[in-house]
Amino acid sequence: MQMKEYEFWFVVGSQFLYGPEVLEIVASRAKEMADTMNKSGVLPCKVVYKVTAKTPEEISNVVKEANYQDKCAGLITWMHTFSPSKMWIDGLSKLQKPYCHFATQYNREIPNDEIDMDFMNLNQAAHGDREHGFIAARLRMPRKVIMGYWQDEDVLKRLGDWMRSAVAAAFSRSLKVMRFGDNMRNVAVTEGDKVGAQMQLGWQVNTWPVGELVEEIGKVTEEEVDALMQEYAERYTMATDNLDAVRYQAKEEIAMKKMLDREGCKAFSNTFEDLYGMEQLPGLASQRLMEQGYGYGGEGDWKVAAMTAVIKAMTEGMTGGSAFMEDYTYNLQKGAEYSLGAHMLEVCPSVAAERPRIEVHPLGIGGKADPARLVFEGHPGKACVVSLVDMGGRLRMICQDIEAVKPILPMPNLPVARVMWRAMPDLRTGAECWILAGGAHHTVLTYDATPEMLKDWARIMDIEFVHITKDTTPASLEQELFLNDLAWKLK
Ligand code: MN
Repeated sequence: MQMKEYEFWFVVGSQFLYGPEVLEIVASRAKEMADTMNKSGVLPCKVVYKVTAKTPEEISNVVKEANYQDKCAGLITWMHTFSPSKMWIDGLSKLQKPYCHFATQYNREIPNDEIDMDFMNLNQAAHGDREHGFIAARLRMPRKVIMGYWQDEDVLKRLGDWMRSAVAAAFSRSLKVMRFGDNMRNVAVTEGDKVGAQMQLGWQVNTWPVGELVEEIGKVTEEEVDALMQEYAERYTMATDNLDAVRYQAKEEIAMKKMLDREGCKAFSNTFEDLYGMEQLPGLASQRLMEQGYGYGGEGDWKVAAMTAVIKAMTEGMTGGSAFMEDYTYNLQKGAEYSLGAHMLEVCPSVAAERPRIEVHPLGIGGKADPARLVFEGHPGKACVVSLVDMGGRLRMICQDIEAVKPILPMPNLPVARVMWRAMPDLRTGAECWILAGGAHHTVLTYDATPEMLKDWARIMDIEFVHITKDTTPASLEQELFLNDLAWKLK
């Protein structure tokens, strides 16, 4: 399902105490608020006003309906009047969808002349939302709390970002990952508990034979390749005479896409150690599939492949870009300390600053023919890098704030896509923190998903979230990791 097809159900709390007239006003205002929020153009998904809930039965019924409606990606609650929250215990205990408590108020200002006891009986969000907050806290409900005026763009933007996290949770729960080959031999961080990941995140991670892909590549017709070569020529600069190498990548792209679509997979991994029967490591082919929204992970890294797909789903329609990335090398010159991120080949062109060039060069490892790949520089801007590691019994997501810059060197002999960035709080401290947390060399670099969106997603999926910011110190992080370890053992 596309982002805009998802709905969020707006459930407004009240009770019978105030009489039917007040309840009618509450219901009509709730509808008006949903309509206005939808018309704002800020929200990626639709808000649907469902009910002014006055009884435990109404609350439990709307929760049960929400649980079973695929198009409902979450619940947004708000207490226009006071809603005694013991009424919510049964319903909230049954809730299986993401939950946002939107603490807002119909009126922006206190109306000096009109405020009287009727006004006070109708407008009770300031204390109604506190009663609601208590019961969710008492129930230890994972939830998002957003407070602010429902017509303010910055408030709606936060609500919209949370919607994106919730939709990414729905996406995650139906995600299938296609593996070609196993993990790179002896590598630890790309390993993990696939059964545990499916229980926690919904990912169905399975393998398909490389031989089947080779067979599929053999079936691609010259006409199919011609059509794709035309698309390449329109979108990229053809900076090679070796068109045969480019045509082979086109075949790989077409064949992999056919297999992914046939199996309903939105992410894939492969490894240069198992390209049996293939002429080239897919470079351009993998980059192209990422550009179309599929997740990818190199060296059998199915976790980063799935995370790339999840983050692409979360940021659908945004324009900054998200890519599979690897920390490659550092510039440790004082005052110009930067990380250079790249991969052997497979960086998504959604992060490119300029029109990518198609080039063909030797790889040096893998023993295959020279692969075609897209070469470009990433664009400058605020971004973050995200890693998911398996700590044994639980997953940890590590997110680091970065500032991408225009690469300070042209690096004319580096024939791969690259992004250069300044890690927060600085390269040395940031790398120390990352290493302390066990973050992988493989990441998703995203200009679109904010740390708040990623944290919300992690909360919904119930996994650990570690955020390295401009304020993080190794000492504070070590303390946090130690306490997290204890807490997750108790959970
Ligand atoms: Mn790698």
